[in-house]
Amino acid sequence: MRTIGIIGGMSWHSTINYYRLINAAVADRLGGHHSAKLLLDSLDFEEVRAFQLAEDWDGAGELLASAGRRLEDAGADAVLIGTNLMHKVAPAVDDAVDVPLLHIADAVGSEATRRRIGTVGILGTNWVMSERFYAERLAGHGVAAVAPAESRRAELDRIIFDELTVGTITETSRAVFVAAIEDLVAQGAEAVVLACTEIELLIGPEDSPVPVLDSMALHAAAAAEFVLAGA
Ligand code: GLU
Repeated sequence: MRTIGIIGGMSWHSTINYYRLINAAVADRLGGHHSAKLLLDSLDFEEVRAFQLAEDWDGAGELLASAGRRLEDAGADAVLIGTNLMHKVAPAVDDAVDVPLLHIADAVGSEATRRRIGTVGILGTNWVMSERFYAERLAGHGVAAVAPAESRRAELDRIIFDELTVGTITETSRAVFVAAIEDLVAQGAEAVVLACTEIELLIGPEDSPVPVLDSMALHAAAAAEFVLAGA
């Protein structure tokens, strides 16, 4: 088995699910008492959030790059960043390590391609929905992306940081996400990407008239494949 290194804690409510899904996939494939070889460098999300609010992406990049180096030094054969937004600084992490970085948007883009989905709607933090770094990575897979309108993006971002990343789930917020999905479908989305690793705590396939691509689950599946490729 190969060892995956997870840069986690962003937030820990989703890192738990990475840990669970990667182990479950390995146990399912190998049977017996097998579990995944993995390393976790779990950051203090308050520190990460301070960099985000200051828009100090160089500082954030250095923080995550240090975590990547620690994982590589500890024996990780690849690293992943367990959040969509912090892939804004993926180039800094990639530059800091010699092992591969398993990019979350590649996991999503590959799945969209496999399912012949040409246009996806993105649900995530405001930076993920409004900037190009995420959509461009999807475009590299031949997948186009549409995003909610600005006022809706602000509301989704608020729900993510005031509620989901601190573990709060409410019906009111679920309704806001469901309305956002309807808008994305009206814009031509053939599927919606849960492009924030905590949205799956709130929204499932039953909340959407089109397929739901959960970035956390797809990223965890890619990590499990990587681990198992060495088994
Ligand atoms: N986990 C969220 C994401 O996937 C947001 C938390 C963060 O990294 O700021 O984008």
